[in-house]
Amino acid sequence: SATGATRLDLDGNPIRPLTICMIGAGGFIGSHLCEKLMAETPHKVLAVDVYSDKIKHLLEPPPGHGRIQFHRLNIKNDSRLEGLIKMSDLTINLAAICTPADYNTRPLDTIYSNFIDALPVVKYCSENNKRLIHFSTCEVYGKTIGSFLPKDHPLRQQPEFYVLKEDASPCIFGPIEKQRWSYACAKQLIERLIYAEGAENGLEFTIVRPFNWIGPRMDFIPGVDGPSEGVPRVLACFSNNLLRQEPLKLVDGGQSQRTFVYIKDAIEAVLLMIENPARANGQIFNVGNPNNEVTVKQLAEMMTEVYSKVSGEPPLEVPTIDVSSKEFYGEGYDDSDKRIPDMTIINKQLGWEPKTPIWDLLESTLTYQHRTYAEAIKRVMAKPAAS
Ligand code: NAD
Ligand code: UDP
Repeated sequence: SATGATRLDLDGNPIRPLTICMIGAGGFIGSHLCEKLMAETPHKVLAVDVYSDKIKHLLEPPPGHGRIQFHRLNIKNDSRLEGLIKMSDLTINLAAICTPADYNTRPLDTIYSNFIDALPVVKYCSENNKRLIHFSTCEVYGKTIGSFLPKDHPLRQQPEFYVLKEDASPCIFGPIEKQRWSYACAKQLIERLIYAEGAENGLEFTIVRPFNWIGPRMDFIPGVDGPSEGVPRVLACFSNNLLRQEPLKLVDGGQSQRTFVYIKDAIEAVLLMIENPARANGQIFNVGNPNNEVTVKQLAEMMTEVYSKVSGEPPLEVPTIDVSSKEFYGEGYDDSDKRIPDMTIINKQLGWEPKTPIWDLLESTLTYQHRTYAEAIKRVMAKPAAS
């Protein structure tokens, strides 16, 4: 607990209370990480973001919570950033544009956000000898090797042709005109830069590659707590459709495969990295759940079934419709075909493994979505559409 007996790391050494500069703390992952740090550790958080809605419950005065301080600033252009990094033992950088709808429609913002804006963070950590945990993405792997084989080629079934390994798999992106890959490419280059700072200048770093972490507070529901024309990631898109009782849209038939991990499992992995620097420094970690693989179409069917159960509303007769990626995302969209994380490194270094099966994580997440949004959606839908 936050006040109880001394906490020990994986090697049995006491954990010293840390000051953590968390950039992007107001986002989906940041909000869960702040919650965990406040509830279960003595660490202090300097929370940096342009938004604070998702952590406002932690910022209000009551007991124990003097340990989190919010700094509203945009890291693109704010000289206070270096001071906050200097005051901290560890910096965690989560700030990014990370919704696929932006990669091909706002490629400049995407590249600036994921590469250029991260540069000063890396530099300040390196110059001031501060540890950095940087959030990259599973998307740096791009497409699987197997995806280039004919559809029913037997080698496609061999793990070497699809399992994604931190220290062995190549990064395979499409052509430049497929601007989808602007994000993956920017993330890859910042990873290489951080790795090089480690090799040449001794920066103590950990790189995290999340594989579709999902749960409460992810993204926004269009027209309720985000722009009505906005396109969030798949969990929020499908939640929005279910709340509005409209069919879920399957991009290009929903044949792409993903592995989903529950945010609360994934946050356990991040806490282990924070508290076990000797085991985490110099490492790149996949964090995902290889047991939770589904096609997007299967995800839509499962979410339809679970939502019906938690809301008590009957499922739609026609629960899904196909849309082309061009229609849904516009020109320049492309996709990762399949994402199975290899778990060897994180298991060996931190003893972490994911726990929550996909049905369970969908049930708790959709229960949250229903409780949080069902009434608000009714109000929005009752209003005549703005002309
Ligand atoms: P998110 O969009 O909810 O959080 C990002 C936060 O960063 C937002 O609150 C945003 O306001 C803030 N931010 C962005 N630019 C900023 C700036 N210039 N100054 C200050 N704050 C800024 O996304 P998330 O899902 O929490 O993702 C966090 C990180 O993890 C990102 O780097 C993302 O690329 C990576 N990631 C997440 C997933 C996932 O499954 N959720 C998958 C792959 C990678
Ligand atoms: N997708 C979909 N319908 C939607 C939203 C997303 O079929 O309403 C698909 C998308 O094309 C991709 C997958 O769902 O194949 C996951 O998309 P997400 O935006 O969550 O991010 P990604 O995993 O591609 O980074």
